[in-house]
Amino acid sequence: MPCPEVSFFKEVATTIESANRHLGLPKSVIDRLTTPRRSLVVSVPVKMDDGRVEFFKGYRVQYDFARGPAKGGIRYHPRVSLDEITALAALMTLKCAVVDIPFGGAKGGVECDPTAMSRDEVERLTRRYAYEIAILISPETDIPAPDVYTDEQTMAWIMDTYSMMKGYPVPGIVTGKPVSLGGSLGRTKATSSGLVTTVLAALKHLNMPLEGLNVTILGFGKVGYHAAKILYDKGARIIGLSDSKGAIYNSRGFDINAVAAHKSSTGALSGFKDGENLSVDELLAVECDCLIPAALEGQINAKNVGAIKTRIMAEGANNPATLEADEVLKDKGVFLLPGVLANAGGVVVSYFEWVQDLQRFFWNESEIDSRLQSIMEKAFKEVLDISIAKKVDMRTAATVLGVKRVAEAVMIRGLYP
Ligand code: NAD
Repeated sequence: MPCPEVSFFKEVATTIESANRHLGLPKSVIDRLTTPRRSLVVSVPVKMDDGRVEFFKGYRVQYDFARGPAKGGIRYHPRVSLDEITALAALMTLKCAVVDIPFGGAKGGVECDPTAMSRDEVERLTRRYAYEIAILISPETDIPAPDVYTDEQTMAWIMDTYSMMKGYPVPGIVTGKPVSLGGSLGRTKATSSGLVTTVLAALKHLNMPLEGLNVTILGFGKVGYHAAKILYDKGARIIGLSDSKGAIYNSRGFDINAVAAHKSSTGALSGFKDGENLSVDELLAVECDCLIPAALEGQINAKNVGAIKTRIMAEGANNPATLEADEVLKDKGVFLLPGVLANAGGVVVSYFEWVQDLQRFFWNESEIDSRLQSIMEKAFKEVLDISIAKKVDMRTAATVLGVKRVAEAVMIRGLYP
């Protein structure tokens, strides 16, 4: 997590401004790209199981619409803030541009701890939050999706609430829904399989084999688990894993199926019989070939970055490293797959889901997988080409590509009125 005194949004805005050194865009365009278009703050009253009414704070930020309707996830977490949601919405804008899908960027969230709430409480919270932000969202303007501690059930409740308000079913209001409600095949593991596509492309570029690759993954949720499973099935060695409660390590590599069974029966990774319990910082100090942070932003920071020994870092999470830590990783020569590229697979398949919902015509899984793979490979190549041509790191190159595409749309549309 970035320290509270460091604004996450300021860090993202600085990254956008720095990319302009390679683009030379007018100040008015950069000002536009570093200013959110609309920010909604709502109060979400929820009747708790004991009869009390608790008030939660919710947000929806529509950062930019230049290239299309806004798109971005909804996060439930105690540390959600307007600053964080704005930063994530800005990153969504860049991410959609980097993979060249016709969306702008948005993000939403509710400041709450869903792990300490009952399922009924989370459902009431979700439905009231959906009602409060319904004045902004629609399939034509802004399409939410899952993020941290929200999932396809959360999306089903939002789809149902919005449809009840309209009086007819509106499947295109959210993506990441269950397949039975118009969700897309392949969405659950899309972020992770897109991430693995970029890791494979990086290995090819760096001349490194996948067989026996030592991988450490932070976060064992939707992104972390599927990344571990896909890489394990392809022959990589997953030597370190962590969740919010701690970390586990095994130099010979984990059996991911057994780890997943342990996590689902005990609720934690720690205590897995074939692993050594470590703290997350101790795990970060273990040498690996590929580090995949897939928990929250700012987890790699000035305090722990010095100990990191990896050749590749693939960002499952958005901005898992602070700007300060990023500089240290650059000096260490770590090959970075930035989040706006590496974790874009989720929004790509969300785009496929939205298209399928609007057409009421659904594709099979192999069509989805192959279209996803070709988009991710193209984006990797475009970012790598900029990185080589401009002699910049991959984060700068991806930001240059994203900013260039959004700026093009901003400039050609002009200023209304
Ligand atoms: P999730 O809720 O499924 O999993 C989050 C994981 O992070 C869990 O393992 C949890 O234990 C761990 N975690 C939570 N708080 C932590 C803490 N303080 N310290 C260490 N670990 C902690 O969420 P997810 O969908 O897997 O998302 C993970 C990251 O990937 C987020 O940053 C999210 O924004 C990003 N992301 C997700 C998607 C997607 O499609 N789900 C797409 C792009 C980016």
